[in-house]
Amino acid sequence: MKNILFDKKEFIKCVKDNVKTLYRKTMEEASEQEVFQAVSYAVKDVIIDNWLATQQTFDKEDPKMVYYMSMEFLMGRALGNNLINLTAYKEVKEALDEIGFDLNMIEDQEPDPALGNGGLGRLAACFMDSLATLGYAAYGCGIRYRYGMFKQKIKDGYQVEVPDNWLKNGYPFELRRPEHSFEVKFGGYVQAEPAENGRTKFVQKNYQSVLAVPYDMPIVGYNNNMVNTLMIWDAEPMECFELDSFDKGDYRKAVEQENLARNLVEVLYPNDNHIQGKELRLKQQYFFVSASVQRAVARYKKYHPDIHKLSEKVTIQMNDTHPTVAVAELMRILLDEEGLTWDEAWAITTKTCAYTNHTIMAEALEKWPIEIFSRLLPRIYQIVEEINRRFLLEVEEEYPGNQYKKDKMAIIHDGQVKMAHLAIVAGYSVNGVARLHTEILKKQELKDFYELFPQKFNNKTNGITQRRFLYHGNPLLAEWVSNKIGNDWITDLSHMEKLAVYVDDPKAQQEFMQIKYQNKLRLAKYIQEHNGIEVDPRSIFDVQVKRLHEYKRQLMNILHVMYLYNKIKEHPDMEFYPRTFIFGAKAAAGYKNAKLTIKLINAVADVINHDASIDNKLKVVFIEDYKVSNAEWIFAAADVSEQISTASKEASGTGNMKFMLNGAATIGTMDGANVEMAEEVGKENMFIFGMSSDEVIAHEQNRDYNPMDIFNQDQEIRQVLMQLINGFYSGNDTELFRDLYNSLLNTQCTQFADTYFCLKDFRSYAEAQERVEKAYRDEKGWAKLVMLNVAHVGKFSSDRTIQEYVDDIWHLDKVKVTVTEQ
Ligand SMILES: *Cc1c(COP(=O)(O)O)cnc(C)c1O
Repeated sequence: MKNILFDKKEFIKCVKDNVKTLYRKTMEEASEQEVFQAVSYAVKDVIIDNWLATQQTFDKEDPKMVYYMSMEFLMGRALGNNLINLTAYKEVKEALDEIGFDLNMIEDQEPDPALGNGGLGRLAACFMDSLATLGYAAYGCGIRYRYGMFKQKIKDGYQVEVPDNWLKNGYPFELRRPEHSFEVKFGGYVQAEPAENGRTKFVQKNYQSVLAVPYDMPIVGYNNNMVNTLMIWDAEPMECFELDSFDKGDYRKAVEQENLARNLVEVLYPNDNHIQGKELRLKQQYFFVSASVQRAVARYKKYHPDIHKLSEKVTIQMNDTHPTVAVAELMRILLDEEGLTWDEAWAITTKTCAYTNHTIMAEALEKWPIEIFSRLLPRIYQIVEEINRRFLLEVEEEYPGNQYKKDKMAIIHDGQVKMAHLAIVAGYSVNGVARLHTEILKKQELKDFYELFPQKFNNKTNGITQRRFLYHGNPLLAEWVSNKIGNDWITDLSHMEKLAVYVDDPKAQQEFMQIKYQNKLRLAKYIQEHNGIEVDPRSIFDVQVKRLHEYKRQLMNILHVMYLYNKIKEHPDMEFYPRTFIFGAKAAAGYKNAKLTIKLINAVADVINHDASIDNKLKVVFIEDYKVSNAEWIFAAADVSEQISTASKEASGTGNMKFMLNGAATIGTMDGANVEMAEEVGKENMFIFGMSSDEVIAHEQNRDYNPMDIFNQDQEIRQVLMQLINGFYSGNDTELFRDLYNSLLNTQCTQFADTYFCLKDFRSYAEAQERVEKAYRDEKGWAKLVMLNVAHVGKFSSDRTIQEYVDDIWHLDKVKVTVTEQ
């Protein structure tokens, strides 16, 4: 078959044929959604050829491959990205223009596959893109949730969650692969039986099971014919109702199995950096991990006779602790199905599994009650018990008689299974996601483990894919960059440093800022259409978009907006550069303070946006339903990037990098990857403020911070805080925002007040914002500053991150795919 994408005529014919065969319609009759489907199937035809060729290359060259296990893949839309990576975006755009369709409009018909919450899931998606582009064999392993991240509506200023039925029209970029289905077992009990070789065989009895059926999604590499696979698992009942089971009295069990399958993959848990500890969540984890490990082992065995050498061809990366049952599942397969001894199985497992830590926050650390864990996964629990028993012997050997140490480090302790401890003990690598984060792990949170296994610990600073977040999301700037320095940045972002020679060039500065202006117009139009708010594209676009979380301090941001408003009202003649504060954030459905912060932002917006007396100096916009597709536009339009987490709390952040790539200046704390951004671009080209992570940690340990001191001493901060409880923004309802007020000041709460130091850092933040304004007034200085940011963004490509994973952890072989006509 020929590569139809590069033949305009044939592509158009293919689209028309698809509309006809799929819908029995002509192009004129087809809806936009139907045209999207027809175009996507035409694109998939091309991808399929490369996909086949990639599989054949794997069969021939037998490269080592990584199985990237993640509860979340926040992929975003595929059509545009696939066209970019097939280097056919422009051609397809022109072809569609010819038959009267706008590619942007067609792209807009695609649902955002939102099988993730935020940064962790988006990281997995960027990694898949980079792996394929760099030519490494990789399988993403995840769950095909029927409902992904909820859609957010704002009603009367409050967040309302609407189910995201992303599969309702059928998704063109997936392929059901029933021939790779596997059974996954839950519950029952374990029976020890004598085996032929004199050993004991462990058999799970009276269990319930589901059939895991994979849907493969193609992951297209950039301009290299490579197509990797994201396998996301659906659950189906093992057998349909049999009259038989009715007779045998198994009717109840048959219904239960059907319900188990139905519920298992129904919905993504909408918590970011927070664990709910629900039994269904553990079921989801074991479900996709068991199926993925079974598929990995089956594939390996198809080509290799010796299971002992598994780690030469397979590595399993666990994205956070969510897939940690993988280590026990691999042990189970090696022990119970392959008949290996414990020592043999352990030697293989501990060379195959590796763990990425994503957070140090207590509420995000996974601990499962023994009762749930052992009831749901009886054989897996036995294996974890044995891993724990042997590990504690090791600890005893290293620290004889030190019970305190053993209690602290145990995998099973105090009625709980600690997943991070299991991942560290069984994994051959433990990595943090930014240098500061990794250092905190080594020196504080995981100090005991670092002392015992120093060789396991390493850092892999996160990155983002420039193909989506510049090439696709900001076509104007992408083209400008290519005109200046050529195309190499698309697959090697370090080339951006060549832009440094232009930062003082007045013409280049003007072009750069004109592109920013165009992107601000595009966003202003979006805001007008979606929010009905008119914003001035010449004002400073100051943006904070990310999940709503107290540690990310959207509250400090909006308190600062309230403070500015008070100042402008009090001094109407003071110099003030017009600013538009833009927010976008989803809050977990059960996270009260987060949801109330959304209401506060909207309440403040309501007052400020309708106050004609401030002469449009301030606008506040809350963009509904922040997701990958609108994120691409938002980054492109930002002047100021808000990265203001309490130092030590944001492990890396990746939003920070996307803004930098798109020519925004960062106002931020020395937290996560901000530290390394400052190192790359120079502190003088960012707006750094606030306590250091050491200072934060010291205050937490000494418990010597009392926000009341600030409340008492600082009249302007006090005024803002009083406005939370005097009805100023709530139509005289003095109770509406009281919980936020209390979270900042009330020491009656169980935890100490202002846990995230919003008031402590407030003055420093306000002062940094004044520096931002001053810098923005200097047009040339600003242009130079943001261009320097773009020129020094090279390190933050996920291509660099993936190459480091490959070099230090995975040791994969590079693959070259050539497509022959078939
Ligand atoms: C990049 C990204 C995130 C992560 O943002 P942070 O600022 O690092 O928290 C979350 N959601 C979406 C849609 C993203 O694209």
